[in-house]
Amino acid sequence: MSARVLVVDDVLPNVKLLAAKLTREYFDVITAYNGPEALDQVRKEAPDIVLLDVMMPGMDGFEVCEKIRSDPSTMHIPVVMVTALSDVADRVRGLESGADDFLTKPVNDIALFARVRSLVRLKMMMDEWRLRENTSGQFGVIEPTTGTLLSESHEKARVLVLEDSALDLDKITDTLARDSNHVVAAETGARALERALSDDFELVIISLTLLNEDGLRLCSQLRSHERTRQVPILLVVDEGDLNRVAKGLELGANDYVIKPIDRNELLARVRTQIRRKRYQDRLRANYEQSLSMALTDSLTGVFNRRYVSAHLPRLLDRAIDNHKPVSVLMFDIDHFKVVNDTYGHDVGDEVLKEVATRASRNLRTFDLVARLGGEEFIVILPDTDGEGAATVAERLRQRIGDTPFTVSAPVGEIAVTVSVGVSIGGRLGDTAEAVVKRADEALYDAKRRGRNCVAVDPRGDIAELHISPVR
Ligand code: GH3
Ligand code: MG
Ligand code: MG
Repeated sequence: MSARVLVVDDVLPNVKLLAAKLTREYFDVITAYNGPEALDQVRKEAPDIVLLDVMMPGMDGFEVCEKIRSDPSTMHIPVVMVTALSDVADRVRGLESGADDFLTKPVNDIALFARVRSLVRLKMMMDEWRLRENTSGQFGVIEPTTGTLLSESHEKARVLVLEDSALDLDKITDTLARDSNHVVAAETGARALERALSDDFELVIISLTLLNEDGLRLCSQLRSHERTRQVPILLVVDEGDLNRVAKGLELGANDYVIKPIDRNELLARVRTQIRRKRYQDRLRANYEQSLSMALTDSLTGVFNRRYVSAHLPRLLDRAIDNHKPVSVLMFDIDHFKVVNDTYGHDVGDEVLKEVATRASRNLRTFDLVARLGGEEFIVILPDTDGEGAATVAERLRQRIGDTPFTVSAPVGEIAVTVSVGVSIGGRLGDTAEAVVKRADEALYDAKRRGRNCVAVDPRGDIAELHISPVR
Protein backbone atom coordinates (compact mmCIF):
# COMPACT_ATOMS: atom_id res chain seq x y z
CA MET A 1 0.00 0.00 0.00
CA SER A 2 2.07 2.91 -1.23
CA ALA A 3 -0.05 5.71 0.13
CA ARG A 4 1.07 9.32 0.02
CA VAL A 5 1.31 10.99 3.43
CA LEU A 6 1.64 14.73 3.96
CA VAL A 7 3.48 15.53 7.22
CA VAL A 8 2.95 19.07 8.51
CA ASP A 9 4.88 20.53 11.48
CA ASP A 10 6.67 23.83 12.11
CA VAL A 11 9.56 22.04 13.86
CA LEU A 12 12.01 20.49 11.41
CA PRO A 13 13.16 17.54 13.60
CA ASN A 14 9.52 16.54 14.17
CA VAL A 15 8.94 16.41 10.43
CA LYS A 16 12.15 14.45 9.88
CA LEU A 17 11.31 11.92 12.57
CA LEU A 18 7.79 11.19 11.28
CA ALA A 19 8.96 11.17 7.67
CA ALA A 20 11.69 8.65 8.48
CA LYS A 21 9.29 6.31 10.29
CA LEU A 22 6.76 6.44 7.48
CA THR A 23 9.33 6.02 4.72
CA ARG A 24 10.66 2.93 6.47
CA GLU A 25 7.16 1.46 6.19
CA TYR A 26 7.11 2.28 2.46
CA PHE A 27 4.82 5.25 2.61
CA ASP A 28 5.42 7.99 0.10
CA VAL A 29 6.08 11.11 2.24
CA ILE A 30 5.70 14.79 1.38
CA THR A 31 6.21 17.63 3.86
CA ALA A 32 5.14 21.16 4.77
CA TYR A 33 6.32 23.53 7.53
CA ASN A 34 3.36 25.86 8.01
CA GLY A 35 -0.37 26.13 7.37
CA PRO A 36 -0.42 27.91 3.99
CA GLU A 37 2.27 25.61 2.63
CA ALA A 38 0.26 22.60 3.83
CA LEU A 39 -2.87 23.80 2.01
CA ASP A 40 -0.81 24.35 -1.11
CA GLN A 41 0.56 20.78 -0.94
CA VAL A 42 -2.90 19.33 -0.28
CA ARG A 43 -4.23 20.94 -3.46
CA LYS A 44 -1.22 20.15 -5.62
CA GLU A 45 -0.19 16.69 -4.43
CA ALA A 46 -3.53 15.11 -3.51
CA PRO A 47 -2.16 13.18 -0.49
CA ASP A 48 -4.04 10.13 0.83
CA ILE A 49 -3.74 11.39 4.40
CA VAL A 50 -2.48 14.47 6.28
CA LEU A 51 -0.65 14.34 9.63
CA LEU A 52 -1.17 17.80 11.01
CA ASP A 53 0.62 19.48 13.91
CA VAL A 54 -1.80 21.49 16.06
CA MET A 55 0.55 24.18 17.41
CA MET A 56 2.00 26.21 14.59
CA PRO A 57 2.62 29.96 14.43
CA GLY A 58 0.28 31.90 12.15
CA MET A 59 -2.33 29.47 10.91
CA ASP A 60 -2.69 26.64 13.46
CA GLY A 61 -3.68 23.03 12.75
CA PHE A 62 -7.36 23.55 13.55
CA GLU A 63 -7.63 26.27 10.94
CA VAL A 64 -5.78 24.22 8.32
CA CYS A 65 -8.11 21.32 9.00
CA GLU A 66 -11.21 23.48 8.64
CA LYS A 67 -9.93 24.79 5.31
CA ILE A 68 -9.24 21.28 3.99
CA ARG A 69 -12.77 20.28 5.03
CA SER A 70 -14.48 23.27 3.46
CA ASP A 71 -12.99 22.75 -0.01
CA PRO A 72 -15.07 20.15 -1.91
CA SER A 73 -12.01 18.94 -3.82
CA THR A 74 -10.07 18.15 -0.62
CA MET A 75 -12.82 17.43 1.93
CA HIS A 76 -12.45 13.64 1.58
CA ILE A 77 -8.77 13.55 2.55
CA PRO A 78 -8.35 12.12 6.05
CA VAL A 79 -6.65 14.36 8.60
CA VAL A 80 -4.91 13.19 11.78
CA MET A 81 -4.13 15.88 14.36
CA VAL A 82 -0.78 15.52 16.10
CA THR A 83 -0.75 17.27 19.44
CA ALA A 84 1.70 17.67 22.29
CA LEU A 85 -1.16 18.37 24.62
CA SER A 86 -2.92 15.32 25.94
CA ASP A 87 -5.71 17.67 26.86
CA VAL A 88 -9.17 16.23 26.23
CA ALA A 89 -10.54 19.65 25.27
CA ASP A 90 -7.95 19.84 22.51
CA ARG A 91 -8.95 16.47 21.12
CA VAL A 92 -12.57 17.46 21.13
CA ARG A 93 -11.72 20.67 19.30
CA GLY A 94 -9.69 18.68 16.79
CA LEU A 95 -12.60 16.39 16.05
CA GLU A 96 -14.92 19.39 15.82
CA SER A 97 -12.71 21.06 13.24
CA GLY A 98 -13.20 17.94 11.16
CA ALA A 99 -10.13 15.84 12.00
CA ASP A 100 -10.58 12.09 11.60
CA ASP A 101 -8.27 11.10 14.41
CA PHE A 102 -5.60 12.36 16.76
CA LEU A 103 -2.14 11.27 17.91
CA THR A 104 -0.22 12.52 20.90
CA LYS A 105 3.47 13.40 20.85
CA PRO A 106 5.84 11.69 21.28
CA VAL A 107 4.19 9.60 18.58
CA ASN A 108 4.19 5.89 19.29
CA ASP A 109 4.93 3.79 16.18
CA ILE A 110 2.09 1.33 16.60
CA ALA A 111 -0.44 4.08 17.14
CA LEU A 112 0.93 5.94 14.14
CA PHE A 113 0.73 3.00 11.76
CA ALA A 114 -2.59 1.81 13.13
CA ARG A 115 -4.27 5.12 12.50
CA VAL A 116 -2.57 5.89 9.20
CA ARG A 117 -3.22 2.43 7.73
CA SER A 118 -6.80 2.34 8.88
CA LEU A 119 -7.55 5.79 7.43
CA VAL A 120 -5.75 5.09 4.16
CA ARG A 121 -7.68 1.83 3.78
CA LEU A 122 -10.90 3.69 4.46
CA LYS A 123 -10.09 6.43 1.97
CA MET A 124 -9.24 3.90 -0.73
CA MET A 125 -12.50 2.10 -0.16
CA MET A 126 -14.45 5.35 -0.35
CA ASP A 127 -12.56 6.44 -3.46
CA GLU A 128 -13.58 3.14 -5.01
CA TRP A 129 -17.26 3.68 -4.22
CA ARG A 130 -17.09 7.22 -5.51
CA LEU A 131 -15.49 6.00 -8.73
CA ARG A 132 -18.29 3.49 -9.17
CA GLU A 133 -20.83 6.22 -8.50
CA ASN A 134 -19.18 8.21 -11.27
CA THR A 135 -19.25 5.29 -13.65
CA SER A 136 -22.92 4.60 -13.08
CA GLY A 137 -23.42 8.38 -13.20
CA GLN A 138 -22.54 8.10 -16.86
CA PHE A 139 -25.75 6.11 -17.32
CA GLY A 140 -27.46 9.27 -16.13
CA VAL A 141 -29.26 7.85 -13.14
CA ILE A 142 -27.05 8.17 -10.10
CA GLU A 143 -27.70 10.47 -7.20
CA PRO A 144 -24.35 11.18 -5.55
CA THR A 145 -24.31 10.21 -1.87
CA THR A 146 -25.12 13.29 0.13
CA GLY A 147 -23.54 14.36 3.42
CA THR A 148 -20.10 13.53 4.76
CA LEU A 149 -18.60 11.20 7.28
CA LEU A 150 -18.98 13.79 10.01
CA SER A 151 -22.66 14.34 9.41
CA GLU A 152 -23.24 10.61 10.00
CA SER A 153 -24.92 9.73 13.31
CA HIS A 154 -22.93 7.76 15.89
CA GLU A 155 -25.71 6.89 18.30
CA LYS A 156 -27.86 3.84 19.00
CA ALA A 157 -25.48 1.36 17.47
CA ARG A 158 -25.51 -2.36 18.19
CA VAL A 159 -22.14 -3.19 19.70
CA LEU A 160 -20.78 -6.62 20.56
CA VAL A 161 -18.22 -6.79 23.38
CA LEU A 162 -15.93 -9.73 24.16
CA GLU A 163 -14.54 -9.13 27.66
CA ASP A 164 -14.27 -11.48 30.66
CA SER A 165 -13.34 -8.87 33.24
CA ALA A 166 -16.57 -7.74 34.91
CA LEU A 167 -15.01 -4.44 35.91
CA ASP A 168 -13.88 -3.49 32.42
CA LEU A 169 -17.09 -4.75 30.85
CA ASP A 170 -19.03 -2.48 33.21
CA LYS A 171 -16.91 0.47 32.28
CA ILE A 172 -17.33 -0.15 28.55
CA THR A 173 -21.08 -0.74 28.80
CA ASP A 174 -21.51 2.31 30.95
CA THR A 175 -19.49 4.55 28.64
CA LEU A 176 -21.27 3.31 25.52
CA ALA A 177 -24.63 3.96 27.16
CA ARG A 178 -23.91 7.70 26.90
CA ASP A 179 -24.66 7.44 23.17
CA SER A 180 -27.63 5.11 23.74
CA ASN A 181 -25.72 2.24 22.15
CA HIS A 182 -27.09 -1.23 22.59
CA VAL A 183 -24.37 -3.45 24.03
CA VAL A 184 -24.37 -7.24 23.77
CA ALA A 185 -21.73 -8.87 25.97
CA ALA A 186 -20.06 -12.23 25.33
CA GLU A 187 -17.67 -13.97 27.70
CA THR A 188 -16.03 -16.35 25.27
CA GLY A 189 -14.82 -16.02 21.71
CA ALA A 190 -17.06 -18.88 20.60
CA ARG A 191 -20.17 -17.16 21.98
CA ALA A 192 -19.13 -13.85 20.46
CA LEU A 193 -18.63 -15.41 17.02
CA GLU A 194 -22.00 -17.11 17.22
CA ARG A 195 -23.71 -13.81 18.05
CA ALA A 196 -21.81 -11.92 15.37
CA LEU A 197 -22.84 -14.42 12.70
CA SER A 198 -26.52 -14.37 13.61
CA ASP A 199 -27.02 -10.66 14.19
CA ASP A 200 -25.97 -7.35 12.61
CA PHE A 201 -23.50 -5.39 14.70
CA GLU A 202 -21.98 -2.04 13.82
CA LEU A 203 -18.92 -2.54 16.01
CA VAL A 204 -17.16 -5.39 17.81
CA ILE A 205 -14.95 -4.59 20.80
CA ILE A 206 -12.46 -7.35 21.61
CA SER A 207 -10.39 -7.56 24.78
CA LEU A 208 -6.87 -8.92 24.38
CA THR A 209 -6.57 -9.54 28.13
CA LEU A 210 -8.85 -12.59 28.32
CA LEU A 211 -7.81 -15.17 30.92
CA ASN A 212 -8.46 -18.37 29.00
CA GLU A 213 -8.11 -17.51 25.34
CA ASP A 214 -6.66 -15.16 22.78
CA GLY A 215 -9.04 -12.45 21.52
CA LEU A 216 -7.08 -12.25 18.27
CA ARG A 217 -8.65 -15.53 17.23
CA LEU A 218 -12.07 -13.88 17.10
CA CYS A 219 -10.54 -11.01 15.20
CA SER A 220 -9.30 -13.36 12.51
CA GLN A 221 -12.56 -15.37 12.46
CA LEU A 222 -14.66 -12.23 11.98
CA ARG A 223 -12.57 -11.26 8.99
CA SER A 224 -12.94 -14.67 7.37
CA HIS A 225 -16.77 -14.75 7.36
CA GLU A 226 -18.69 -12.93 4.66
CA ARG A 227 -21.26 -11.59 7.11
CA THR A 228 -18.74 -9.97 9.46
CA ARG A 229 -15.96 -9.08 7.05
CA GLN A 230 -16.85 -5.38 7.08
CA VAL A 231 -17.67 -4.94 10.77
CA PRO A 232 -15.27 -2.54 12.53
CA ILE A 233 -13.15 -4.08 15.29
CA LEU A 234 -11.79 -2.14 18.25
CA LEU A 235 -9.19 -3.86 20.44
CA VAL A 236 -8.75 -3.27 24.17
CA VAL A 237 -5.23 -4.03 25.43
CA ASP A 238 -2.76 -3.67 28.26
CA GLU A 239 -0.06 -1.05 27.86
CA GLY A 240 2.69 -3.69 27.75
CA ASP A 241 0.99 -5.65 25.00
CA LEU A 242 1.37 -3.36 22.04
CA ASN A 243 3.10 -5.96 19.87
CA ARG A 244 -0.13 -7.98 19.91
CA VAL A 245 -2.00 -4.88 18.83
CA ALA A 246 0.27 -4.74 15.80
CA LYS A 247 -0.67 -8.37 15.06
CA GLY A 248 -4.35 -7.54 15.52
CA LEU A 249 -4.18 -4.61 13.12
CA GLU A 250 -2.53 -6.89 10.58
CA LEU A 251 -5.43 -9.31 11.00
CA GLY A 252 -7.83 -6.51 10.16
CA ALA A 253 -8.72 -4.80 13.46
CA ASN A 254 -9.42 -1.11 12.91
CA ASP A 255 -8.25 0.59 16.09
CA TYR A 256 -7.39 0.05 19.75
CA VAL A 257 -7.53 1.60 23.22
CA ILE A 258 -5.26 0.94 26.17
CA LYS A 259 -6.25 -0.16 29.67
CA PRO A 260 -6.98 1.46 32.05
CA ILE A 261 -9.62 2.70 29.66
CA ASP A 262 -10.00 6.45 29.31
CA ARG A 263 -13.75 6.92 28.85
CA ASN A 264 -13.47 9.95 26.57
CA GLU A 265 -11.00 8.27 24.31
CA LEU A 266 -13.04 5.07 24.17
CA LEU A 267 -16.16 7.03 23.28
CA ALA A 268 -14.39 9.10 20.62
CA ARG A 269 -12.93 5.98 18.97
CA VAL A 270 -16.22 4.11 19.13
CA ARG A 271 -18.02 7.06 17.53
CA THR A 272 -15.47 7.30 14.75
CA GLN A 273 -15.79 3.61 13.89
CA ILE A 274 -19.58 3.71 13.92
CA ARG A 275 -19.71 6.81 11.72
CA ARG A 276 -17.29 5.30 9.21
CA LYS A 277 -19.28 2.09 9.08
CA ARG A 278 -22.53 3.94 8.53
CA TYR A 279 -21.07 6.19 5.86
CA GLN A 280 -19.60 3.26 3.96
CA ASP A 281 -22.89 1.37 4.21
CA ARG A 282 -24.66 4.39 2.79
CA LEU A 283 -22.21 4.68 -0.13
CA ARG A 284 -22.72 1.01 -0.90
CA ALA A 285 -26.52 1.17 -0.61
CA ASN A 286 -26.63 4.25 -2.82
CA TYR A 287 -24.50 2.53 -5.40
CA GLU A 288 -26.62 -0.59 -5.39
CA GLN A 289 -29.80 1.42 -5.66
CA SER A 290 -28.39 3.45 -8.54
CA LEU A 291 -27.34 0.30 -10.26
CA SER A 292 -30.81 -1.16 -9.97
CA MET A 293 -32.25 2.14 -11.19
CA ALA A 294 -29.94 2.02 -14.17
CA LEU A 295 -31.30 -1.37 -15.14
CA THR A 296 -35.00 -1.16 -14.32
CA ASP A 297 -37.89 0.81 -15.74
CA SER A 298 -38.99 3.38 -13.17
CA LEU A 299 -42.70 3.30 -14.12
CA THR A 300 -43.31 -0.45 -14.05
CA GLY A 301 -40.36 -1.81 -12.05
CA VAL A 302 -39.51 -4.45 -14.68
CA PHE A 303 -36.12 -4.46 -16.42
CA ASN A 304 -35.36 -1.88 -19.10
CA ARG A 305 -33.92 -1.98 -22.61
CA ARG A 306 -30.38 -1.42 -21.34
CA TYR A 307 -30.56 -4.58 -19.28
CA VAL A 308 -31.92 -6.62 -22.16
CA SER A 309 -29.14 -5.39 -24.46
CA ALA A 310 -26.54 -6.49 -21.94
CA HIS A 311 -28.18 -9.73 -20.88
CA LEU A 312 -29.75 -11.30 -23.97
CA PRO A 313 -26.44 -11.82 -25.82
CA ARG A 314 -25.10 -13.70 -22.80
CA LEU A 315 -28.20 -15.87 -22.57
CA LEU A 316 -27.92 -16.67 -26.27
CA ASP A 317 -24.23 -17.57 -26.01
CA ARG A 318 -25.02 -19.93 -23.19
CA ALA A 319 -27.96 -21.41 -25.09
CA ILE A 320 -25.75 -22.09 -28.12
CA ASP A 321 -23.13 -23.76 -25.92
CA ASN A 322 -25.76 -25.95 -24.30
CA HIS A 323 -27.67 -26.69 -27.51
CA LYS A 324 -30.82 -25.30 -26.01
CA PRO A 325 -33.23 -22.76 -27.42
CA VAL A 326 -34.06 -19.34 -25.97
CA SER A 327 -37.39 -17.84 -26.94
CA VAL A 328 -38.34 -14.20 -27.08
CA LEU A 329 -41.83 -12.74 -26.89
CA MET A 330 -42.36 -9.19 -27.94
CA PHE A 331 -45.75 -7.73 -27.09
CA ASP A 332 -47.41 -4.40 -27.53
CA ILE A 333 -50.68 -2.96 -26.20
CA ASP A 334 -53.32 -2.63 -28.89
CA HIS A 335 -54.66 0.84 -29.65
CA PHE A 336 -52.96 2.24 -26.59
CA LYS A 337 -53.09 5.72 -28.04
CA VAL A 338 -56.86 5.55 -27.71
CA VAL A 339 -56.55 4.77 -23.97
CA ASN A 340 -54.38 7.86 -23.49
CA ASP A 341 -56.55 10.04 -25.67
CA THR A 342 -59.78 8.91 -24.01
CA TYR A 343 -58.83 8.63 -20.33
CA GLY A 344 -55.63 10.65 -20.03
CA HIS A 345 -51.97 9.83 -19.62
CA ASP A 346 -52.23 8.88 -15.92
CA VAL A 347 -54.73 6.13 -16.65
CA GLY A 348 -52.42 5.08 -19.51
CA ASP A 349 -49.62 4.74 -16.96
CA GLU A 350 -51.81 2.63 -14.69
CA VAL A 351 -52.51 0.31 -17.60
CA LEU A 352 -48.78 0.00 -18.35
CA LYS A 353 -48.08 -0.99 -14.74
CA GLU A 354 -50.84 -3.55 -14.68
CA VAL A 355 -49.68 -5.07 -17.96
CA ALA A 356 -46.17 -5.44 -16.49
CA THR A 357 -47.61 -6.98 -13.32
CA ARG A 358 -49.76 -9.50 -15.16
CA ALA A 359 -46.88 -10.44 -17.44
CA SER A 360 -44.44 -10.93 -14.54
CA ARG A 361 -46.90 -12.95 -12.49
CA ASN A 362 -47.37 -15.57 -15.15
CA LEU A 363 -43.76 -16.53 -15.71
CA ARG A 364 -41.15 -18.83 -14.22
CA THR A 365 -38.42 -17.47 -11.95
CA PHE A 366 -35.78 -17.46 -14.64
CA ASP A 367 -37.95 -15.79 -17.26
CA LEU A 368 -37.42 -12.11 -17.63
CA VAL A 369 -39.76 -9.22 -18.48
CA ALA A 370 -38.56 -5.84 -19.70
CA ARG A 371 -40.20 -2.71 -20.98
CA LEU A 372 -38.44 -1.69 -24.14
CA GLY A 373 -40.13 1.71 -24.23
CA GLY A 374 -43.58 3.18 -24.77
CA GLU A 375 -46.12 0.34 -24.61
CA GLU A 376 -43.80 -2.31 -25.95
CA PHE A 377 -42.49 -5.15 -23.76
CA ILE A 378 -40.25 -8.14 -24.19
CA VAL A 379 -40.19 -11.48 -22.39
CA ILE A 380 -37.14 -13.73 -22.54
CA LEU A 381 -37.69 -17.43 -21.90
CA PRO A 382 -34.50 -19.46 -21.40
CA ASP A 383 -34.59 -23.19 -22.25
CA THR A 384 -37.87 -22.78 -24.10
CA ASP A 385 -38.60 -23.98 -27.61
CA GLY A 386 -41.08 -22.51 -30.08
CA GLU A 387 -43.97 -24.66 -28.92
CA GLY A 388 -43.42 -23.76 -25.27
CA ALA A 389 -43.04 -20.10 -26.14
CA ALA A 390 -46.25 -20.08 -28.16
CA THR A 391 -48.10 -21.56 -25.17
CA VAL A 392 -46.68 -18.91 -22.82
CA ALA A 393 -47.52 -16.18 -25.34
CA GLU A 394 -51.11 -17.36 -25.68
CA ARG A 395 -51.53 -17.55 -21.90
CA LEU A 396 -50.09 -14.03 -21.55
CA ARG A 397 -52.50 -12.74 -24.21
CA GLN A 398 -55.44 -14.27 -22.34
CA ARG A 399 -54.38 -13.06 -18.88
CA ILE A 400 -54.36 -9.51 -20.22
CA GLY A 401 -57.23 -9.60 -22.69
CA ASP A 402 -59.76 -11.80 -20.87
CA THR A 403 -60.05 -9.81 -17.62
CA PRO A 404 -60.70 -6.06 -17.78
CA PHE A 405 -58.27 -3.68 -16.03
CA THR A 406 -59.45 -1.79 -12.97
CA VAL A 407 -58.15 1.79 -13.06
CA SER A 408 -58.78 4.91 -10.95
CA ALA A 409 -62.27 6.37 -10.65
CA PRO A 410 -64.19 7.64 -12.46
CA VAL A 411 -63.02 5.39 -15.28
CA GLY A 412 -63.39 2.07 -13.44
CA GLU A 413 -62.80 -0.74 -15.89
CA ILE A 414 -61.11 -0.85 -19.29
CA ALA A 415 -60.65 -3.69 -21.73
CA VAL A 416 -57.00 -4.00 -22.73
CA THR A 417 -55.55 -6.37 -25.28
CA VAL A 418 -52.05 -7.11 -26.54
CA SER A 419 -50.55 -8.57 -29.69
CA VAL A 420 -47.60 -10.91 -29.29
CA GLY A 421 -44.74 -11.85 -31.62
CA VAL A 422 -42.60 -14.92 -30.86
CA SER A 423 -39.13 -15.82 -32.12
CA ILE A 424 -36.70 -18.58 -31.22
CA GLY A 425 -32.95 -18.18 -30.79
CA GLY A 426 -30.11 -20.57 -30.04
CA ARG A 427 -28.72 -21.41 -33.45
CA LEU A 428 -25.01 -20.95 -34.04
CA GLY A 429 -24.33 -17.54 -35.58
CA ASP A 430 -27.65 -16.08 -34.50
CA THR A 431 -27.38 -12.70 -32.75
CA ALA A 432 -29.51 -11.01 -30.12
CA GLU A 433 -30.41 -8.24 -32.56
CA ALA A 434 -31.59 -10.78 -35.12
CA VAL A 435 -33.73 -12.69 -32.60
CA VAL A 436 -35.34 -9.45 -31.40
CA LYS A 437 -35.89 -8.31 -34.98
CA ARG A 438 -37.66 -11.57 -35.85
CA ALA A 439 -39.91 -11.20 -32.78
CA ASP A 440 -40.65 -7.64 -33.85
CA GLU A 441 -41.61 -8.80 -37.33
CA ALA A 442 -43.87 -11.49 -35.88
CA LEU A 443 -45.47 -8.84 -33.67
CA TYR A 444 -46.09 -6.71 -36.74
CA ASP A 445 -47.69 -9.74 -38.32
CA ALA A 446 -50.00 -10.19 -35.32
CA LYS A 447 -51.06 -6.53 -35.54
CA ARG A 448 -51.76 -6.90 -39.25
CA ARG A 449 -53.89 -9.96 -38.64
CA GLY A 450 -56.23 -7.92 -36.47
CA ARG A 451 -54.48 -7.62 -33.04
CA ASN A 452 -55.20 -9.50 -29.76
CA CYS A 453 -53.39 -12.56 -31.14
CA VAL A 454 -50.05 -14.38 -31.20
CA ALA A 455 -47.78 -14.85 -34.23
CA VAL A 456 -44.73 -17.10 -34.24
CA ASP A 457 -41.78 -16.45 -36.49
CA PRO A 458 -41.05 -19.73 -38.30
CA ARG A 459 -37.43 -18.86 -39.12
CA GLY A 460 -34.49 -19.25 -36.81
CA ASP A 461 -36.04 -22.33 -35.31
CA ILE A 462 -33.86 -25.21 -34.24
CA ALA A 463 -34.43 -27.64 -37.11
CA GLU A 464 -36.48 -30.37 -35.49
CA LEU A 465 -38.97 -28.07 -33.77
CA HIS A 466 -42.39 -27.90 -35.35
CA ILE A 467 -43.89 -24.51 -34.89
CA SER A 468 -47.34 -23.69 -36.04
CA PRO A 469 -48.61 -20.14 -35.72
CA VAL A 470 -51.23 -19.92 -33.02
CA ARG A 471 -54.59 -18.36 -33.94
P1 GH3 B 1 -51.20 -0.35 -32.04
O1 GH3 B 1 -52.34 -1.23 -31.74
O2 GH3 B 1 -50.87 -0.33 -33.49
O3 GH3 B 1 -50.01 -0.68 -31.21
O4 GH3 B 1 -51.67 1.14 -31.71
P2 GH3 B 1 -51.19 2.04 -30.52
O5 GH3 B 1 -52.15 3.14 -30.35
O6 GH3 B 1 -50.99 1.21 -29.31
O7 GH3 B 1 -49.77 2.51 -31.00
P3 GH3 B 1 -49.15 3.93 -31.23
O8 GH3 B 1 -47.69 3.70 -31.49
O9 GH3 B 1 -49.92 4.69 -32.28
O10 GH3 B 1 -49.32 4.72 -29.87
C1 GH3 B 1 -48.59 4.36 -28.72
C2 GH3 B 1 -48.99 5.34 -27.66
O11 GH3 B 1 -48.34 5.01 -26.44
C3 GH3 B 1 -48.59 6.74 -27.98
C4 GH3 B 1 -48.02 7.29 -26.69
O12 GH3 B 1 -48.67 8.46 -26.27
C5 GH3 B 1 -48.27 6.20 -25.68
N1 GH3 B 1 -47.19 6.09 -24.69
C6 GH3 B 1 -45.90 5.83 -24.91
N2 GH3 B 1 -45.22 5.81 -23.71
C7 GH3 B 1 -46.14 6.05 -22.75
C8 GH3 B 1 -46.07 6.18 -21.33
O13 GH3 B 1 -45.00 6.03 -20.69
N3 GH3 B 1 -47.21 6.43 -20.65
C9 GH3 B 1 -48.41 6.59 -21.33
N4 GH3 B 1 -49.49 6.84 -20.60
N5 GH3 B 1 -48.49 6.51 -22.64
C10 GH3 B 1 -47.39 6.23 -23.36
MG1 MG C 1 4.27 23.05 16.43
MG1 MG D 1 -49.53 -0.27 -29.34
